[in-house]
Parts: sequence; structure tokens; C-alpha cells
Amino acid sequence: MKKSKEINYRKLTRNNVWVGLVAFFAAVCIHVVFLLATSILLTYVAESKIQSEIDSIRDMVALYEEGNVPADEVYALLDKKGREYYITDGDGRILHSKGQIEAFDSDGSISWQSFNDNVTYYSNSKIGFVKSGVGDGMVINLLDVFKEVRGKISEVDFNIESDETMVTMPIWQEVLLSDGQTHFYAKASVNLTVKDLLIWLVSYLTISILIAIVIIILIIAAIVNHVRNRRTLAVLFGDSVTGGKNINWFIYYGNQIIRKKKNRDRKYAVVSIELVKYNLYCVCHSLSAGEELLRAINECLSKNIMKKELCARGTSAEFVLLLKYTDEARIQKRVSHIISQLEKLSAEHKFGFQAGITIVDPSKTGEVLKNGRIHMDIKREFNYAKVAAGALSSTDESGVALLDDKMIEDQKWVDTVCEKLQSALDNEEFVVYYQPKYDPRTDKLTGAEALIRWQSPEYGLVPPGRIIPIFEQNGFITQIDHYMIRHVARDQKKWLDEGKSCVPVSVNVSRAHFAEDDLADQICALVDAEGAPHELIEIELTESAFFDDKKAMLNVIAGLKKCGFAVSMDDFGSGYSSLNSLKDMPLDVLKLDAEFFRGDGGDGRAQIVVSEAIRLAKNLNMRTVAEGVEVKEQVDFLAKEGCDMIQGYYYAKPMPAEEFVTRI
Ligand code: C2E
Ligand code: CA
Ligand code: CA
Repeated sequence: MKKSKEINYRKLTRNNVWVGLVAFFAAVCIHVVFLLATSILLTYVAESKIQSEIDSIRDMVALYEEGNVPADEVYALLDKKGREYYITDGDGRILHSKGQIEAFDSDGSISWQSFNDNVTYYSNSKIGFVKSGVGDGMVINLLDVFKEVRGKISEVDFNIESDETMVTMPIWQEVLLSDGQTHFYAKASVNLTVKDLLIWLVSYLTISILIAIVIIILIIAAIVNHVRNRRTLAVLFGDSVTGGKNINWFIYYGNQIIRKKKNRDRKYAVVSIELVKYNLYCVCHSLSAGEELLRAINECLSKNIMKKELCARGTSAEFVLLLKYTDEARIQKRVSHIISQLEKLSAEHKFGFQAGITIVDPSKTGEVLKNGRIHMDIKREFNYAKVAAGALSSTDESGVALLDDKMIEDQKWVDTVCEKLQSALDNEEFVVYYQPKYDPRTDKLTGAEALIRWQSPEYGLVPPGRIIPIFEQNGFITQIDHYMIRHVARDQKKWLDEGKSCVPVSVNVSRAHFAEDDLADQICALVDAEGAPHELIEIELTESAFFDDKKAMLNVIAGLKKCGFAVSMDDFGSGYSSLNSLKDMPLDVLKLDAEFFRGDGGDGRAQIVVSEAIRLAKNLNMRTVAEGVEVKEQVDFLAKEGCDMIQGYYYAKPMPAEEFVTRI
């Protein structure tokens, strides 16, 4: 999976709890800030009140200091102000007092020295503190204000116009008079009224509500975002057909599992399970019936997986599983069991399911990264599982195949061949080997078969068994067969020109050609282009080619014969309807398959079949060639039975043209 894609998936799948947390902390912080702000407002109210109190105390001090009135009269004047105060001399003796005569509270004194004014302030209330000079401000302790208000709340008339005092903050002022001895103490009481508190409360609530609205909006946005993420994920990772998960999901979470540090010592199996001939099923029933079936398969698979195992649909009717792995036998048994359950999905229809398994061993396969995670790609493993399943594709039956090293080697080889075939053809790296055919009665050379070899600069002499099946698969075989016909015709022409007594050489023509109805003309043109006589070229058709299209087959054979090419049936006896083909096809040569001459059970049954086959061919006016004959007794037996030719190691192995030419 591409890194950027993976990062995006990770962002989408991450839980967005932090958005909520951030919103919550923001709420708390903003609230505290506004609580402070409103306390400043309250302080401001209190401060303006205290200012007038202080002014009046200063007036009292000024009056006392003027000293041009007898002391008693001054005291009487001061007493009239209705304020608590007291005056002490240099020794601390009280000269005069009214009301409370202690400037500070018993539980401790909180006092501030003013620097500019030679005045000290004392507060015997915890509600409001003077910070430094009176003009510099004060701090309101909101908690204590609340306590105070709570005590009185039941008695108070909450009227905005009400001047009723709810909170009193006594602040004492001590002034050292100009004689440097006498101290004047006066109490200033700052009162917060119902009106003050209501103003404060309303502003506090308004701001709080505003903040709450902002936070709610933030939280809603976070939730909406979260829901949208979930929906996006459902689209990205969901499978619209089965309602389960899709391959993107599998790859993303599969990688998470196998790459995890703590899973390094665990093993997993990636399993690809495909329903065989799904498309045909849809054609015969309906697409919706097919999709219904896929849903049922998904359900069945999901039921069969355990915690921390995955199941998803790949493409079409292919599903993929990530299973925990313990050992080979157990995983094969488990997958077979799953398949047996899938097969039971329909009582009327017999379905085939083919599974490929690959084992994922992070400790072996994966490269360990610096962060301890393992670098592996489950997509690659899935592909391996598919390759394993591909080994079963020659049949429609259910089956389980485990990927082994040979399979990978084989696939790599197929890939190499496919890459190199064109350049090999252009560079004439394909060479013609000739395997002579001898008459067992006279031991004379009477023919040969042309067999391909790939003389590769990299891989040496590659036998046809390693390339022909690949060419048949990818269609290159038609070019190869043409190449062979051209080269054989060229060799024959050359040898004729050299005065050699040439024998007919048979060339294999693959079944892939029979779709072309002008095959006979093509071959004819190829041979003519080289100028070789047609009677020196024989065409071998393998038995399996006879099944495809009888009519086309007959056409081709008729065409070839018309051109003067002998036509032989290769590998007779290796299939099961050879007799049937023989009945319809006017062939010239019957090649008995090499299997007839491998390990006769000893009771002579093979000999009976061979001699009857030779007799049958004779009655049909066909010549016989026995292939794969390796021992003298077989040669003698075939000579006795009247077999026309033997192509086998007893006489000669396939050989290069230069060697073959010495035999003719
Ligand atoms: P085939 O046409 O049946 O060729 C006979 C194969 O049997 C040859 O294998 C030959 O070497 C082998 N053989 C012959 N006598 C004996 C014997 O006594 N003992 C044993 N053990 N083997 C013997 P080869 O050359 O490996 O070819 C294998 C197959 O490849 C051929 O089977 C044919 O089907 C295919 N093939 C080879 N060349 C071509 C070609 O040019 N075109 C096509 N379409 N197929 C080809
Ligand atoms: Ca052949
Ligand atoms: Ca053969």
C-alpha cells in the first residue's frame, strides 16, 4: 500500500478523543479566565466605593491635626462622623476611641504598608484585600463573597434597585500624624449591595453562557467530523456486495497486525479462497443470485474466523483471510473444513472452492525496522496465496494448496520465459533437434521428429517441457510452431541441395492453431517459402487437440492432406477418446504413446494392446510409429508385430541438425 494512502487511512481510523479533551480543557481555562475577569469587575466596583471612604478618613485626620479647637470638641466632631476609630499616643496608649478599637483581626493580621503616604492599611476581612496603596486596587476573594452571600440569601430582597448590603469588607487605615508619635486608626467599611452583586452575577452568567455555546459548537463539530470519518471509512473499507469488508480494509489492518512489534514471534497464514466459475453461475442464474451467494460466503467465512483474524472480499468471487498459524497440517485441515462448510451453502448446486495458502512468518520474512516494527506487505502475501491457488486452476474441483518454494520458482521461471521469448526468437536462440525414427525390421532411418530446444545464453540448453507449456499458455506457441516448420523446411531444402537422401521430418503443431481455419494454407506457404517438397514434412497433432472442434479439425486435416503433408496423431493412447477420433479423422500416421512401453505389468497386457493398435492402424491404412522405445526386446516385439517405425532412445536421442545429418 502506498505510504501516503496508508497515512490517510491511519488518520481516518484514529479515534478523535483528543478533540473532546482539548475542548474540555479549553472550557475550563476560558472559564477561569472569565471568573478572574468578573472578579476584576467586582473589585472595580468595590474600589470606587472604598475611595470615598478613604477620602472621608483623610478629612477626619486633617480635622484632628488642625489642632485649633480643644481636643474634646474635635473628638465630638469626629464621633459625629459615625465611624469607628481610635487614636494612640507614642507609647501606644489610647487617647480616644469610638467603637471597635483593634485595627486587625484576631486570626491574623493582613496589613500593607503604603510607601508614599506613611499610612498602613489593615484588613480584618478575608473578602477583600487591599493590595498596596489604596489607590492601587484591591482583590476580591470570590469564594468568601459566595459564602457571605449564601448566609444571607434567605433574608435578602433580590431587587435590582435594592441597596441592601450583602457583603461588608472592613479596612482599617492607620495614619502616623506629623508629630511622629500619634497614630490615627479609622475603619472604612466597603459594602457590596444586592445591586452590585446582581450586576456581577449577570455579567458572569452572560459570559459563561457564551463560552458554553462556543464549547458546544466545538463539540458538535468534533462529533460531526467523527461521524463523517466513520462514513468515509465505511465507503473506503466496506464491500458493497457482501456488506462485509473489502480488500483495502484487509490490506490496511492486515499490515497493522503482521507488522506489530509484539506479533513478531507469531505466524500467520494468508488464505485466498475463490469460488470456481462464479461468472458462469451468474450467467446461468442471475447476477443478483450470484451476489446473494457472495453474501452467504462472506457470512460463512466470517463465522469461521477467530478474534484478531481477518476476512474480506478481494475481487469478483475471491475472498481473503488472515488466520493464525501453528503448523502446516492444522492450517490445511482448518481451510479444508471451511471449504466443506462453503460447499454446503447450496443443496442444489455443487460449488467448487479453491484455496491457496501462504505462511507469513514475520521473524523470517520481514525486515525489522528501527522502531521495532516489521517491514512486510500483506499485499505481497495475498498475491502468493493467489499463486498457490493458481496451482489448482486446471480443475473445477475444490482444493487447498500451500505455497512452496518450488511454486515460486516455477512462477519466476514463467515470468523469465515470458520476458525473454521475443528476444530469443529474434536472436534465433531456439534450435531444432532431430530425433530419428527407424524401421525395426531393417534398422534403417526412415524419418525423424523435430523437437525444439532453447539454447539460452543464460540458462543453457532448456528442454521443451520447460517452455512449451508456457508458450501454449501465452499464445506464443503459434509463432514457435511456425518457426519450427520454417527451420525444418530450410534444413530439408539445404540437405536436398547437398544431395542427401532426406527422410520425412514431422513437426509438432499445437492445438492453439486450430482456431485458424487457414492453418493448412499458412503451413503450405511457410514450406513453399523455403522451397522444400511437401512430402518431406509431416504434421503431428496431439491427441488433446482433437477434442476442441471436430469440424475445424477435419477441415485442417483435409487442407493439409490436399497440400501433400502427411498428418499424424501424436501420443495415441494417452487420452480416452482416441478411438473415436480415429474413426472420423483421415490420418496417415499413428504414434503410439511412450506410456505403452513403460513398465508392462509382466502379464503382457500392454503387448496385447500395442499389437491390436498396430493391427487397427493397418486396417485403417495408417502407418505406425512407436515412441519412447528404450530396450531391444521392445524393438524385436514391435518388428514382429509389423510396427513401421520406432522413435526412441534405443536408436537415438534427439540430436542437433549437424549430428542428424550424418545419419541420412
Ligand atoms: P512429443 O511430441 O511426444 O515428443 C517426444 C518426446 O519424447 C521428446 O521429448 C523426446 O525426447 C522424448 N523421447 C523420445 N524417445 C524417448 C525414449 O526412448 N525415452 C524417453 N524417456 N523419452 C523419449 P522432448 O524433446 O523433451 O519433447 C517433449 C514435448 O515437447 C514433445 O512431446 C512435444 O509435445 C513438445 N514439443 C517439443 N518440440 C515442440 C515444438 O516444436 N512444437 C510443439 N508444439 N511442441 C513441441
Ligand atoms: Ca510429437
Ligand atoms: Ca509424442
